[in-house]
Amino acid sequence: MPLEFKIKLMQTKVRKGKIEINSERCKGCKYCILTCPKSCIELSSNFNSSGYFPAYFANPQNCIGCAMCAVVCPDLAIDVYVEE
Ligand code: SF4
Ligand code: SF4
Repeated sequence: MPLEFKIKLMQTKVRKGKIEINSERCKGCKYCILTCPKSCIELSSNFNSSGYFPAYFANPQNCIGCAMCAVVCPDLAIDVYVEE
């Protein structure tokens, strides 16, 4: 690998992401949990008002803002924010 390319790779910033999960919309299907490549999401042990265990943002430090979780959520319960 050329040295210049190696240096560029080392300088590449890791994209930081953040999600917000609307726990009242969530039905606990786990699609987001199974899809997240960074294991950011887990199921809560507390019910929401509909009686589901909703997903929550358990490991925010890992999030890269890829939005895969929001894409697969059938209830549109996830908003994604990205810091470039
Ligand atoms: S945006 Fe990507 S990395 Fe962040 S929680 Fe969703 S699937 Fe995981
Ligand atoms: S995909 Fe949506 S509805 Fe399913 S657990 Fe995740 S946030 Fe909840």
